[in-house]
Amino acid sequence: MTNSILHVALDTPLRRAFDYRLPQDRAGISVPLQTGMRVRVPFGRRSLIGILVGWAAGSEVPAGKLKAALEFLDAEPVFDAVTFDLLRWAADYYHHPIGEVFAAAMPAAVRQGRPLSSRIEEWSLSEAGRAEILSPSDRRGPKRRALLQWMQDQPPLTGEDIVAAGFALDQLKAVAGRGWAEAHERAPVPQTPRVAASEVALTQAQTEAVDTITGSLGRFEAHLLFGVTGSGKTEVYLRAIAEVIARGGQALVLVPEIALTPQLLERFRKRFSAGIAVIHSGLTGTDRHEAWSAARSGLARIVIGTRSAVFTPLTDLALIVVDEEHDTSFKQQEGFRYSARDIAVLRAQRAAVPVVLGSATPSLESLENVASQRYRQLRLPERTGAAHDTRMTLVDLRAHANEQGLSQPAIHAMAAHLKNGGQVIVFLNRRGYAPTLFCCACGWVAACAHCDARMTIHRRVGRLRCHHCGAEGLIPTLCGACQQPLMPVGQGTERVEDALAQLFPDFPLARLDRDSVSVRGAMEEVLESVHNGSARILVGTQMLTKGHHFPDVSLVVILDADQGLFATDYRATERLAQMITQVAGRAGREARAGEVIIQTQFPDHPLLNRLIHSGYEGFAVDALEERRAASWPPYSRLALLRADARDPKRVDEFLRDALRSAAGAREVKLLGPATALIARRADRHRAHVLIEAATRPQLQKFLNVWLPRVDSLPIKQGLRWSIDVDPTEVD
Ligand code: ADP
Ligand code: ZN
Ligand code: ZN
Repeated sequence: MTNSILHVALDTPLRRAFDYRLPQDRAGISVPLQTGMRVRVPFGRRSLIGILVGWAAGSEVPAGKLKAALEFLDAEPVFDAVTFDLLRWAADYYHHPIGEVFAAAMPAAVRQGRPLSSRIEEWSLSEAGRAEILSPSDRRGPKRRALLQWMQDQPPLTGEDIVAAGFALDQLKAVAGRGWAEAHERAPVPQTPRVAASEVALTQAQTEAVDTITGSLGRFEAHLLFGVTGSGKTEVYLRAIAEVIARGGQALVLVPEIALTPQLLERFRKRFSAGIAVIHSGLTGTDRHEAWSAARSGLARIVIGTRSAVFTPLTDLALIVVDEEHDTSFKQQEGFRYSARDIAVLRAQRAAVPVVLGSATPSLESLENVASQRYRQLRLPERTGAAHDTRMTLVDLRAHANEQGLSQPAIHAMAAHLKNGGQVIVFLNRRGYAPTLFCCACGWVAACAHCDARMTIHRRVGRLRCHHCGAEGLIPTLCGACQQPLMPVGQGTERVEDALAQLFPDFPLARLDRDSVSVRGAMEEVLESVHNGSARILVGTQMLTKGHHFPDVSLVVILDADQGLFATDYRATERLAQMITQVAGRAGREARAGEVIIQTQFPDHPLLNRLIHSGYEGFAVDALEERRAASWPPYSRLALLRADARDPKRVDEFLRDALRSAAGAREVKLLGPATALIARRADRHRAHVLIEAATRPQLQKFLNVWLPRVDSLPIKQGLRWSIDVDPTEVD
């Protein structure tokens, strides 16, 4: 038989596919082979599930060594042709092992061999369960009995229903284990979403945006929807998606972090009655499988998800939306390092559908794509409804006394806004109580034992924590070197919260940062307290910048604009400008005029001034000019070879060997080795080599030749290395 050698991608770190003979027993598969099918193969002593990526008549592996595949799991491919090609492309472009790329694109259940289409498992009482209620045999399990009692009057329930009613899955397991409850499977029922009428009449600019987007349905076009916070971008997505649904298509909506945007989900659910699948990493295995298979089978018409959702197979895909396209969480920073935003654009191109990238602070790359007419810009210049513009002022921290980081002008403004009934946001991108624990007598500083970094004081929990490796310890009271008392230096959100409580004892406070919302439901509670006005002052980190809509906030105080002004990373100023603009956008969203106060030690800094006087757009023009002058992306293309090991010598030797193996490369520049900003993290020393090329093809051509050489360098024990194409952090 020809074509009898299968090429199979397996979830291993090796950058190649593996050859197998056809399964001995082909009786099970009467269908023709198709790439993208799951196939189970022997691998060492185990069996693994891989993806068929191709086949050939022969193999370079000697016939005696070729093993036979065990079985095909499905009669159809997991991935439709466009998604399959997209994944192959992504593996090539990001130089990541193809098997790991496929694995990343499947829910765990599918990777492990469960059926492609998930079925819903529902529980009800068995005869034995009813008998148990009437004459209990188990008197030691009051919770189990409560569950039985409750289930008695319920329709068949999913595990999720049972948990929602306050029972634990363990109780269900115990009850099922005794045969008192039984499971039935049913296929989910497709529902056509009803589209609720919008309550608002679109503005002229929104109408144009919606018309332009819907006018491009059926072909590729990239739209940059550039509109300030509150200008009605979400309304534009909703309208365009309503049109997609009316035409029988599916829409894919990518968002930075689901947990941080409950309001967006709520609006989608209000507008579309059914057919929404939500895919994110916080889902349990079963829920994720269910959402993924609903999307793949077409049961779901709208898929909302975080970055990995960009790989969801969708046969009727008609529109892709990337909300907050500038957000760095679209970039995966470990393992398979890809940009979901960039892949979304490529996917749209391959599927011949439009993509909408929305932001109040578009990335400089996207703005450059507009300038070079690869993307079409749709502007929403004004805030909708009653929203007001905001006034921004700089406060010179050197000229004003300050109390725990709050300058007098900021304190006065807060008092005035609070008295007028407004709410105030105080923004500081540093959680914990203070970033440094310091000895005034000898200068000792509490440092992490495993990193080149300081420990942050977390006073609420009474711990020192390293924000880089997670190490923890008690807070010492005396200096480790000279036994003198120690002092916390600098501010974190906890400390600012304390200071505000003293300054404004009559106004209730809420804090929003990763620590304050680590408990489930805490996030919703904080947001609700701001919405219903029970909190008047909100202190928080960049979590505040994620699209929340707080109608009564009239003042935003940015405590420290200087983190980032002088950072080494070439993207730091872009990030800072985005962050300032995003936080500032929380002020004056409805009936109240907004004011923004930015505290800085550098009131003459050109970036800050440009931002304040000409807004983000003006800033972006200057910033792109700087990038062009310095040949940074988007005017060049980068890749970063990172390495780390416990022994710094190993790292250095490896990177030098890698550099040597690139000798003679002419179209790229190699810079390094350079140590990372935090040279040691979790006991590993880190360094990198930066590769710079003028164009993507030049960079790819080089990497294609070079990486196999790096791969074949003698392996240094304990050394890890990775390649990051289009890195967002050059560190
Ligand atoms: P963005 O996504 O740009 O932040 P939203 O779509 O969330 O903006 O809109 C901000 C607020 O304005 C929302 O409460 C929304 O319901 C409302 N809104 C949107 N479009 C209009 C409109 N054309 N007229 C009145 N209100 C609108
Ligand atoms: Zn000391
Ligand atoms: Zn550490």
